Amino acid sequence: MIEYEIPFVCLIFTIIISTIFFTKKKVKLEENFYFRNVLIFTLLVNITNFVSHYFASIYLVNGVDSWYTSVFATINKLGSLFIVIITFNVMSYIFYISFEKYRKNFKLYKFINSIIFVVVGILIFLLDFEVYKVGSITSGKGSSVTLTFGIVFLNLIAAFIVSLLNIKKYDKRYNSIYIIIPLIILLGVFVMFHPEFNIYDLILCILCYLMYFTIENPDLKLINQLELAKNTAEQANRAKSDFLSSMSHEIRTPLNAIVGLSESIKENYDVDQIHEDVNDVIMASQNLLEIVNGILDISKIEANKMEMVETNYNPREVFKSLTTLIETRIGDKDIELRTKIAPDLPANLYGDKGKLKQIISNLLTNAVKYTESGYIDFNVSCINEKDECKLQIIVSDTGRGIKAEQIEKIFNKFERSEEDRNTTIEGTGLGLAITKALTEMMGGKILVHSTFGEGSKFTVFLKQKISNETISNNTIVEEKIKYNDKKVLLVDDNTLNIKVAAKILKEYGLSIDSVESGQECLNVIKSNTYDLIFMDIMMPVMSGVDTLNALKQIDEFKTPVVALTADAMEGKAKMYMDLGFNDYLSKPIDKKELERILNNCLHGKIEETVNKIVSEDPNVHTVTPITDSQIEQLNKLMEQQKDNKFND
Ligand code: ADP
Repeated sequence: MIEYEIPFVCLIFTIIISTIFFTKKKVKLEENFYFRNVLIFTLLVNITNFVSHYFASIYLVNGVDSWYTSVFATINKLGSLFIVIITFNVMSYIFYISFEKYRKNFKLYKFINSIIFVVVGILIFLLDFEVYKVGSITSGKGSSVTLTFGIVFLNLIAAFIVSLLNIKKYDKRYNSIYIIIPLIILLGVFVMFHPEFNIYDLILCILCYLMYFTIENPDLKLINQLELAKNTAEQANRAKSDFLSSMSHEIRTPLNAIVGLSESIKENYDVDQIHEDVNDVIMASQNLLEIVNGILDISKIEANKMEMVETNYNPREVFKSLTTLIETRIGDKDIELRTKIAPDLPANLYGDKGKLKQIISNLLTNAVKYTESGYIDFNVSCINEKDECKLQIIVSDTGRGIKAEQIEKIFNKFERSEEDRNTTIEGTGLGLAITKALTEMMGGKILVHSTFGEGSKFTVFLKQKISNETISNNTIVEEKIKYNDKKVLLVDDNTLNIKVAAKILKEYGLSIDSVESGQECLNVIKSNTYDLIFMDIMMPVMSGVDTLNALKQIDEFKTPVVALTADAMEGKAKMYMDLGFNDYLSKPIDKKELERILNNCLHGKIEETVNKIVSEDPNVHTVTPITDSQIEQLNKLMEQQKDNKFND
């Protein structure tokens, strides 16, 4: 066997594995600490073995009587101490992964180990180390070597027993321990009896190599990504909780009024007082509906389910209806509404009239809400270029204004100024969030300027297509049509819902039967004929859809069935119609929608429903955003046109 080649090759190997280990970013784990020690001391053993044997091959060629003998002994004693330290670390590693409960005591354990190292080190150096030659190999024997072997074997055997006792508890990656330790013990015994095989370094390299795979070395990059994902999820969860708590708070306020006033009505016999309370109940209910609609809008916007419904419309009519609406809102307040609509506003525009109305109505409502006295300016100006109309809509007021530090936040959902939280001004903090989202959906921009205590100015920039088509005026049924000879069946598991729907339907002269389950519906259908069925969807045992399917199995069944549900998300109408319903009506019942359905189903007229138009409209989502330069251009032209071009 050659004197120093094996230590040299092992040294190179340990350097490579150390480089890999130390350059890789690691999590601070105790297992890594022990492995790091094993690696460092293996490297030191490799160095001492290589150096001592290299010089032995030069100075101890002819026996061991040379000055180098004592140097060789000293270097190898140092190597022995390093081997002892390695086996202590292997043992500690096994103890650490086995005794999870006692991990907090490991500081003390490490301290005791350090004292043992010092004592063993002193003993190794004091005891006898006799240098001798076995063939071409220089080796050592004596009490120092025996002590080293003794401690190494004791450590390894203790570690092996502990690992066997904990075999069930270990993770699979620790399986190689049952190969490493017996292998090291066997090889150790082998070199004890065959010192001519200088393979200590090889044994240690095998140890390092196999141990490396038992260390849990999670990918730090992945951990960081997971951490980021976790934080995002937690943030989303917090936002959801905030949303729920704000929502329940906002809903409770009008609900409280409804419950309280209803109770007072129950016990009151003064007709005037009852009238007043009922009016307040209606107002609180409308407020509640507004909140729920706002929440629905926000969730539609956030789920990307808000759709553009583009039609031809008369903008002047839209703005007129908005001013009428806002005038009634102003009521007794000492506020003057000053409206200026540009004379060159095209007669017909093409775009989402509903959303445009919602945007402006939100701004005007806020202006009324947050202004005590003075005026509200509602200004609409435009620039017409070819087939495009660039609108600038300004709503300014002489109200209380917004503090500079709050301006940034007002477009966030549920964000209200601190004052509003504590005052009686009703609101949810959803209006401007919806307004901004809708404006951006339409490719526009919204800006705000406000001076606290003086007033606010909201400016919306929007582009709409100029339409040359004349608008077909849909005849709106103003007069309530009576359907005296028609019979309607209401299917709903909630008796209160039946009561409300029946009351509304009775206004149309209909005769009404009601049942509270799908099964009952199937039973009454056998002995009765109806002209129309309103079917709730969420019913226990047999849902509305199941009931409809069962009805369709009946021969000769031709009665139209309308889904009546509180599920009002966009796209639901189409979904229910695809499921086989003739139409869809959301709760709370919108009378206009109900009239349309009654007209369709009971008169047999085939009119396209609004929902059908939505889903079939090829122009859904075809908006190009307004650019900054266009806004600048609009602003400049507005300045020039000011004063002389507007009419009231
Ligand atoms: P809210 O339902 O509270 O009115 P909005 O989202 O419409 O919710 O408005 C958010 C907040 O912005 C309001 O609570 C109010 O503090 C402030 N704000 C909005 N419009 C005005 C305005 N014209 N004048 C003063 N403050 C306003």
